[in-house]
Amino acid sequence: MPAAILVVEDEPAIQTLIAANLRRHGHIVTAAMDAETALRQINETLPDLILLDWMLPGMSGLDFARRLRTDSRTRSIPIIMLTARGEERDKVMGLESGADDFVTKPFSPRELLARIQAVLRRGRPQASESPVEAGKLRLNPASHRVSADESPVSLGPTEFRLLHFLMTHPDRVHTRDQLLDQVWGDHVFVEERTVDVHIRRLRAALEPSGLDHYVQTVRGSGYRFSIEAN
Ligand code: CA
Repeated sequence: MPAAILVVEDEPAIQTLIAANLRRHGHIVTAAMDAETALRQINETLPDLILLDWMLPGMSGLDFARRLRTDSRTRSIPIIMLTARGEERDKVMGLESGADDFVTKPFSPRELLARIQAVLRRGRPQASESPVEAGKLRLNPASHRVSADESPVSLGPTEFRLLHFLMTHPDRVHTRDQLLDQVWGDHVFVEERTVDVHIRRLRAALEPSGLDHYVQTVRGSGYRFSIEAN
């Protein structure tokens, strides 16, 4: 399925390569060399997905991702971060900044396409469109809206899927591996620690309404969704 993809990458050769590859697979590509240019483009048209280089002149990819996540208009655009660094610490930082996935350079065009497809699929509405309710939490897959105690909650696409899965499978323990299977699907590149990062982000989003205790850690096992006290 074709998507509008914004490529933010300051190395012309890599930018050209990525853009050509994506276009060949039917995607509509716009490109920017830096975050400031990308912001101007986003102000005009929202892309379906952003490929974002970590190291950019001026505002870094990390800061740019954070900025996109704080703005309600851009908050739910999936971001895949491109980086030359492979360090675990950086990956976690990237995910915490609001990136949905991480691709380390050098990557094959096929790997990049697979990740893009996976992230886009995650961002689409669920197979089941019925609204779900648990305690003071409400999630509507059709409108992609979540409310906690009547207040809207903004979630990134991965947190949304994660919460939807948890709410529809409450009161039982899910291991990280099971969550990866259920929420990330065929996304074999993701490490189990990624689950922890997204659980943290989900809890942080629920915290202002005091509902973060619905998402419970089961020590040594995984996570559980329950409106009962832990
Ligand atoms: Ca760069």
